[in-house]
Parts: sequence; C-alpha cells; structure tokens
Amino acid sequence: MSIAAPEWAVIESVRKELLIDGDWRPAESGHTLEVENPATGEPLCTVADAGPGDAEAALAAADRHRHEWAARAPRERGEILRRAYEEIVERTDELALLMTLEMGKTLAESKAEVAYAADFFRWFSEEAVRIEGSYAISPNGAGRMLTMRQPVGTCLLITPWNFPLAMGARKIAPAIAAGCTMVLKPARQTPLSSFALAEILEGAGLPAGVLNVVCSSAAGSLIAPLITDRRVRKVSFTGSTEVGRLLVEQSATQLLRSSMELGGNAPFIVFADADLDAAVEGAVLAKIRNGGESCTAANRFLVEAEVEAEFSRRFAERLGRLRVGLGYEAGNEVGPLIDEAQLKTVEDLVADAVAGGAKVLTGGSRIDGRGHFFRPTVLGGVPSAARILREEVFGPVAPIVRFSGEEEAVRLANDTEFGLVAFVYTQSLDRAIRVAESVETGMVGLNQGMVSNAAAPFGGIKSSGYGREGGHEGLAEYLETKYVAVAS
Ligand code: NAP
Repeated sequence: MSIAAPEWAVIESVRKELLIDGDWRPAESGHTLEVENPATGEPLCTVADAGPGDAEAALAAADRHRHEWAARAPRERGEILRRAYEEIVERTDELALLMTLEMGKTLAESKAEVAYAADFFRWFSEEAVRIEGSYAISPNGAGRMLTMRQPVGTCLLITPWNFPLAMGARKIAPAIAAGCTMVLKPARQTPLSSFALAEILEGAGLPAGVLNVVCSSAAGSLIAPLITDRRVRKVSFTGSTEVGRLLVEQSATQLLRSSMELGGNAPFIVFADADLDAAVEGAVLAKIRNGGESCTAANRFLVEAEVEAEFSRRFAERLGRLRVGLGYEAGNEVGPLIDEAQLKTVEDLVADAVAGGAKVLTGGSRIDGRGHFFRPTVLGGVPSAARILREEVFGPVAPIVRFSGEEEAVRLANDTEFGLVAFVYTQSLDRAIRVAESVETGMVGLNQGMVSNAAAPFGGIKSSGYGREGGHEGLAEYLETKYVAVAS
C-alpha cells in the first residue's frame, strides 16, 4: 500500500538540506542521499549528503559562536528551551507522522516518543537556571575555595535511527542549557526528524550557529576529522558498542570529554512471587516498545521454574495477538524493522536458537511481502549457548530461560558484557532491593517495563557505555568544573 496525500505533505514540508550557521544549504558537492520508508522499502525523499567540507563549515560555525552563546543569560537559554517544548507538543501529530514514515514505528509509538523528546526540553529549560557553584573555607582556614561550572565548549553529537527525535533531544537540550554550541549528525536512515527539530529550535529563537546539522552517507569519514579537531571539546554518542569503541579510541587524541550510550542486553527477571498479570503486561511493554528496536528492550526473559509454564503461555498468547502492519495505519501495534539487514539479523538469531533446541511458542518468522516485518515471537527453553542470549536482538523476539532461586537469577542476569538496564518482577520488597543492588546495570525497572524519564539519569555500565542523559546528571555532562583558590 502506498502512502496517501496528507502523509506526503509532511515529507514535502520538512527541510532536507544541511543547517550550517543558520543557513539551510545543499551539500558542497551537490550530493544527496535517499531516505527509505521501511514499511514499503520505497524511497521517501532525498536529503543533502554532507562531505568533509560541509562538516568543517559546521564545526567552524559552532566554534565561531561558542563564546557569545556561553555568555547568554541562563534564563534566555531556558526560555528558548521552553518555547521549543511547547512547539514540539503543539506539532505532535506532524512530528509523529514524519517519524513513523522514516523509521517505521506505529503512530502511537511515535507520539509517545514526541512526548518523551519534548520533556527533555521542558526539563532542561528548568535546569538551565540552576547551574550552581560552591564556596568553602579551606580546611586550614587560610584561604577560600570557589568552584564554578562552565560550558564544556563545542560538542559533537551523534545519534542512531531507532529514536529519531528523542536521542537528539537528550543531547541538544542539555547542551543548550549549559551554553554549548554543537554539530549534530543524525543517522542517515532517519534525518528528517532532526531537521524538523532544528527548524523548531530556530523558531524558538536559538541563534544561528549554536546548532548545526549535517547528515551523511559516509559517517566515518565525516566524523573522524571532527573528533580529532582541537575545536571540539566533547563527543556524545548513542549507538552500537562497536562504533562507540571506535569513537572512544579516536577521541583519545584530544582526551575529549565523552558520553557513550551504547548497546544493551536487558534481563527481564520474573520471580515466582511476582504479580503475574503485571509481569506479563510489563514484558509486553519491555519487549514490544519501539518494535523491539530499543537499547532498553528486554532481551532475555529469566523466569523462575514454578511460574515458567504459566508466564510463557500468557506472554506468547499476548504477543501472538498483536497486530503487525504499516505504522501509519490505525490499529497496528507493531511496525516494520528498519531495513532488510536488521530483519536478516533477527531471523538468523531465531534460527540459531531453534537449531539449538528452542521451541517457537508464537511467531518465529518474517512476514513475506513488501517492507521488513517480523512476527512477534516467543521462544521457550532457549539453550544457554544460543547467540540470542548474548547479542542484542533489536526486534520483537523474546527468548525465555528458566532459573531456580535468586542466586541463579542474578548470575544469569549478569552473564553479559552489557549493563544498561534490568527489569525485576517480585512482590517481596527485600528481594527487590537485594536484586536491584546485585544486578550490574545502570538502571533497574522494579515491577515496571519501562524506565525512560527526562528527569532521571539514563545510562549504562560495562559495554553499555558511560555518562548519563536526563536528570541533573544530564546537564553535568555538558559542564566543566573550575576551582578557584582565593587567598584571604
Ligand atoms: P550505529 O551503527 O552505531 O550508528 C549510530 C550512529 O553512529 C549513526 O548516526 C551512524 O551513522 C553513526 N556512525 C556509524 N559509523 C560511524 C563511524 N565510523 N564514525 C562515526 N559515526 C558513525 O548504531 P545504530 O545501528 O544506528 O543504532 C542501534 C544501536 O544503538 C543499538 O546497539 C542500540 O542499543 C544503541 N542505542 C543505545 C541507546 C542508549 O541510550 N544506550 C539508545 C538508542 C540506541 P549512519 O547511520 O549514518 O551510518
């Protein structure tokens, strides 16, 4: 099915050039890259394809405006953020449709993401005026110690395709609040949401050159010269662990401040004393939110032996009933995966688990035809050697593993290189606290299947990266602390 006229209007109206120093302009080379509709595999539009010269111009603009922007009053920065928040909320339907068209997720998911993204602008509009320092008498009484917090400087922000609006919002909003200028590079598959956001920020009064946006079909060759350029002071990256590692290596040249929001492999632990209704609903949310293409998606369902059969049956029944289809058609609950490569990865992980002895309780295969659709799937009795227990699935597939006792649950949960989030279902407060303390992750969902909140510090440990986005911590990522020793 082709997309209809109102849907096209939203694609027509969004800017498709690079934003450099307040100018929307084509790539220096005149090159463009194609953005695809993952629901049909057909092209949606083309956008400017930046090369190294464009990236240099974007960085030069960010650098040129650095001091002037840092000197602006915090209240002024806060009010720009507040206006952006209001405009994003006002334009929810249009932004959601745009996101659904370029990324595939359902309109309901896109609307939830617009609200989540908007919330970062609201939260950091409030934080912008609360950047504080300190005053202390030196312990020997012979001097005074002042600390002040200053913007880190020019930032390089790199975002993935799975949350096209929110991942940029989590970086741009605190950078604006702190007084930093920036170059944003969105994923080549989903640049349109970033262009729409940049336009909203312009309209909200963000001065030219504070936010520059470049999209490219050659991310590596665009970013490498920037990350090693002395004018850049920070890199904030959300994406795969593999690319994150590469960027950390590259950023070592300048010892850049860096924030790395990387891959996950979240355990979803259901103890026998859990409220099973709540656990099944939480499991559906933790697995199916964003079609499973979320870094916080539950990747391994660890279920205590006593309730394994009942949980598996109910969970499979719920996932089996979900309606899969075009994200922009009402009533659909799961959209397509981003591309054929992702679909193939999911298919291979399922095939590997099944070859090792896992049983398909529902789903288990792609949906033939146009687009990149995979049936919501539950796998029971997944063998410990299955790749799906070690690798991020990034699709609507839930492998179930049985455990006996708390000790085994924690051991299995921690048996991964990743450490982003864990979900724990139990009605025992003692156990909840013990397990929350024992799991090696940056976040824990206790009896709830989602943890994201603009007011909370989002982030991971181990191979899931470091640094936090959101909360007070999210602003600190864009500030340096300067200590002033005062003679007295
Ligand atoms: P990706 O391949 O690492 O890409 C992420 C971004 O990095 C894109 O903008 C990409 O550009 C760019 N990139 C790729 N190679 C690069 C290079 N050599 N140098 C500089 N930039 C480069 O990840 P993805 O497949 O888009 O996203 C999925 C991953 O993101 C998953 O692992 C997921 O868990 C993770 N993620 C983590 C969080 C979190 O907060 N922890 C949140 C969301 C997603 P192009 O796309 O244009 O190539």
